[in-house]
Amino acid sequence: MRKQIAAANWKMNLTLPEATKLLNELLENAEALADAQEVVLAVPFPYLMLVKERLKGMKGYRVAAQNCHHKLAGAYTGEVSASILASLGIEDCVLGHSERREYQQETDAELSQKVDRCLEVGIRPIFCCGEPLSVRESGAQDEFVAAQIRAGLFHLSPEAITGLVIAYEPIWAIGTGKTASSEQAQEMHASIRKVLADQYGSSVANEIPILYGGSVKGANAAELFANPDVDGGLVGGASLQANEFRQIMRALK
Ligand code: PEP
Repeated sequence: MRKQIAAANWKMNLTLPEATKLLNELLENAEALADAQEVVLAVPFPYLMLVKERLKGMKGYRVAAQNCHHKLAGAYTGEVSASILASLGIEDCVLGHSERREYQQETDAELSQKVDRCLEVGIRPIFCCGEPLSVRESGAQDEFVAAQIRAGLFHLSPEAITGLVIAYEPIWAIGTGKTASSEQAQEMHASIRKVLADQYGSSVANEIPILYGGSVKGANAAELFANPDVDGGLVGGASLQANEFRQIMRALK
């Protein structure tokens, strides 16, 4: 079975006392995970080590950065490299979130380099893709997302690409309360898997977890995750509330 993943994206939220309280609520009598299940907490850089310490010895619980630089070292004040993250023992890194593509003008070319840097140092990229509302309304969403995947990932070997997680996050559903319907999510995930299968073959495509992101909450997670090509979720707002996120974890296949 492919990995089934509940990934929390805290974004630029929570002060240290707030983060500590949320961790206490999540980790006290923590949800036990089955072999194929994972929980990933993508937290602001200053909390990485704290969260890593708190997750020590907890099967299936991992910590992620929300970004890294596209070079491994150098004179880039204020940036954090994949090699620094790897030296801290960080296992995953979210790349190409739509907020970064929009506000930091991250390009496909730069993202493909970030993917390489992560893989070089043994960090698993969680590669985000997804269309804006105008593209969805024009019906061109499948091709738009396929182009993001080709540009960001198709330079990888079949072995390398199986080390990735993909997160499909329609921009019109992020932080808006508007979730893609279960059918829309399954359709797009199947379309992404076909794009991967056409390039790499179906056995490689079938190994890659594809998460759905966009206003996932406790109440809609089970229906979304029940789809055959939806392997869990990348969760923003609802991951800041322990009860909501625990419900989302319990909805994993
Ligand atoms: C996200 O930022 O990755 C996200 C999906 O946010 P939200 O769950 O709040 O829509």
